[in-house]
This record gives sequence, C-alpha cells and structure tokens, in this order.
Amino acid sequence: MKRTTFAILGVALAAISLPGATQTAADKPAAPPVFETKKVEGTDNVYIFRAGNAQSMFVVTSAGVIATDPISYARREAGEMYVQEIKKVTNQPIRYLIYSHHHFDHIAGGKAFKDAGAEIIAHEKVRERLAPLKDPYTVLPDRTINKTTPIQLGDTTIELHYLGLNHSDSTLVMRLPRERIIFTVDTIPVGSIPGRGMIDSYPLEWEDMLKKVLAMDWDRLIPGHPGGRDARTRHDRHVSARDRAVHRARAEDGLGAAHPRSSRSAGRTPRHQAGRAGPARLAALRLRDREGRGT
Ligand SMILES: [Zn+2]
Repeated sequence: MKRTTFAILGVALAAISLPGATQTAADKPAAPPVFETKKVEGTDNVYIFRAGNAQSMFVVTSAGVIATDPISYARREAGEMYVQEIKKVTNQPIRYLIYSHHHFDHIAGGKAFKDAGAEIIAHEKVRERLAPLKDPYTVLPDRTINKTTPIQLGDTTIELHYLGLNHSDSTLVMRLPRERIIFTVDTIPVGSIPGRGMIDSYPLEWEDMLKKVLAMDWDRLIPGHPGGRDARTRHDRHVSARDRAVHRARAEDGLGAAHPRSSRSAGRTPRHQAGRAGPARLAALRLRDREGRGT
C-alpha cells in the first residue's frame, strides 16, 4: 500500500499525567523532565517512555503489556521507573520486553522487567553479545529469533522484523500493523545525521536495510532517541531529517569508493572500508564526534 501520510512521533504526542516524574531543576521550568511518559496521539494503547536522551515504546493490549528497551544505561533507576510508569497506565501484567538491539544505552536495565515477570525477546545475536559480559543488571533474552517474527498478545500484533545488518547485527524493527507505527532504534535518527561510523555497524548493508524499511507499510516512526531540541518542536525538521537520511543512503550508492577513507575507518575490515568516507559521511563523523553520540 502506498504511503500517503508521514509523521515522526515525538512531535505529535499528547501528554498524559506524569505523577512521579522527576524535574531536572525546579527553577528551570523550560527544561524537560528526565523521565517522561506520553501516549501516542491517535492511538488508544501506544506509549513512549523517555529517560533523558533515550526512549522506547510500550503497548497495552487486552492481555498484557508489550514493552521495549529498558534504556537504563545513563540512569540506573530508569528500568524500575519504566516499570512503575507502565503500572500507572494499566493493571495489565508486563508480558514481553523486546530488545531493539544489543547496545547498552538501550537495553541496560532489563532486570527490572524480568523481576516484573516479563519474557525477554531479542535477536539471537543479542544473546551472543551479552552472554560474555555477564551483567546481572542487563539480563539475557529468554527467547531469541533470527528472522521476522510476529508476536500476538490479546488483541494486538507486533511484528519483529529482522532486516539484515545495519547499525548492528542484532537490530529488530518493530511494527504495529493496526496502528501503522514502527519503532526502530539508531537506524533512522530524527534531527541528526545517521551515525554510520559506529565500530560495529555495517554501513553498506545499512543502505539495503533502509530500503526495506521504506518498503514496509507504516505511517509513523518512533526513534530510539528523541532528537535535538528543535527536532522535538518542529515537525517539518523531523520530516526533512528523515528525507535527508533516505536521500543520503540513495546518493551514496555510487559515491564513496573514489574518496579517501577516513582515519576512523583505519584498521577495519575491507568490507567496512569499501565505499566509505564520502564527503557526507565525513560530515556525519564530525557531527557525531562533536555531539559525542555513539549509538
Ligand atoms: Zn545502538
């Protein structure tokens, strides 16, 4: 089905009550709270929980809650705070916690959900990456998948799409077919340039992944980071940021090989070096370095 409308969530959100939310400074009313839960406009059951500069989606179904990424790396209490925020919304049990990929800034703190009784689902590479670390706070998945898998809970289906290599080798794009919403983390950033120089990313394959996402049936996207201040307040910038990312992926199809590779790519595998370090990519690396954004 051809997409006719597009919006990035994080812009068109309706705030719900936030009992217990922590203000960063009482004397700075303009500053956003550290923790924030919002209901996604136009839905009855989809929410965004944000902790600082990371966010995740949770869905309330007729048979329990499907949560994603515990986002507790920067703030250890975020996992428990996330569980408590869900309990303020519904009495339904948290049935599933789905990891978007294996990076700690998104999945640290899964223990709070395990303790709450959730089954943790992730791509099989997540288990492979986490097992040697033995972090009791960031628990291993109970169930792993290696291909696109639908999860049915009560009246709701969430599709877990594995679209190959991209920002990581363990990324799942989550799609709610009824709501026409996708949740994808670190792969299509909003309000910033894709950080494709990550040491464990796969920039060439990532472009194929973007094409697969564009071919999917969805209207709105929830990213794993809310974007900069402007991105949260200016819808047009959200949309253009998304378009730039797509155009960049397409333009670089025939761009990079003639350019010298950056020092950042030194020591990487030939597969990673090939076709990299076009001007746009170098600009992205500089921006990433300046902002200290790593995942
Ligand atoms: Zn990441």
